[in-house]
Amino acid sequence: MTSAPTIGVLALQGDVREHVRSLEAVGAKAVAVRRPAELEAVDALVIPGGESTTMWKLADAFELLEPLRMRVKSGMPAYGSCAGMIMLADRIEGGIEGQQTLGGIDMIVRRNAFGRQVDSFEASLDFAGRGQMRAVFIRAPWVESVGTDVEVLGLAEPGDRIVAVRQGPLLATSFHPELTGDTRVHSYFVEMVREL
Ligand code: GLN
Repeated sequence: MTSAPTIGVLALQGDVREHVRSLEAVGAKAVAVRRPAELEAVDALVIPGGESTTMWKLADAFELLEPLRMRVKSGMPAYGSCAGMIMLADRIEGGIEGQQTLGGIDMIVRRNAFGRQVDSFEASLDFAGRGQMRAVFIRAPWVESVGTDVEVLGLAEPGDRIVAVRQGPLLATSFHPELTGDTRVHSYFVEMVREL
């Protein structure tokens, strides 16, 4: 892909504008996605931080749940931060009754995992061997366990928990790079999109 990829940001709920800004800063064309037709028009998708239970219910109400699952299944690159990580998990723990995800990454994600200790915090961590970055966690999940095809891209204190993973075209972080102005995670994702 030579021209700027068009990357959608799922705009049902959450910090959509911050992701749009970060994607544009690294040379992608960013558009909001609320309808199936808008989803069809993008090369890749960012699922923002916010609240996964609300995102799931709205995706269902907007008839986006199945189209999202289909596109993820057919290999569309996607990046989920925080609530978005929960949405991309094949299995979750600590979800509400009946909570569904899109799935795609062979992992178990524990919802509000760090939140039981501290509601929000910052940590310095190495992301994908690209150097230390300041990571912001807000009622964040952690990855409890991963399948063999999942690459671990970042660990955080307390407890050296898995907080960044990739499986093929799917990327997820427990933290919110869109909130710190550090664009390295977004540029990593845009490089992934260009390569695939
Ligand atoms: N705890 C939220 C959830 O379950 C995620 C928090 C966030 O995205 N900052 O969706």
